[in-house]
Amino acid sequence: MSQSERGDGHSQQCNSCGMDVSGTNAARFECPECGHMIFRCATCRKQSNNYECPDCGFRGP
Ligand SMILES: [Zn+2]
Ligand SMILES: [Zn+2]
Repeated sequence: MSQSERGDGHSQQCNSCGMDVSGTNAARFECPECGHMIFRCATCRKQSNNYECPDCGFRGP
């Protein structure tokens, strides 16, 4: 047994603050420009932080 890493595929990180949002009620949506999956934690959603697509650079509220 190694560390308690969950092998559930890819990690889910908030696009705004980088927090790990797996297992939380984070918003999940696709970039309207390129379809890249973007996550936002409840905190950033509440603060209406902007997101920026890491793939195409699209910014949105
Ligand atoms: Zn966040
Ligand atoms: Zn994009």
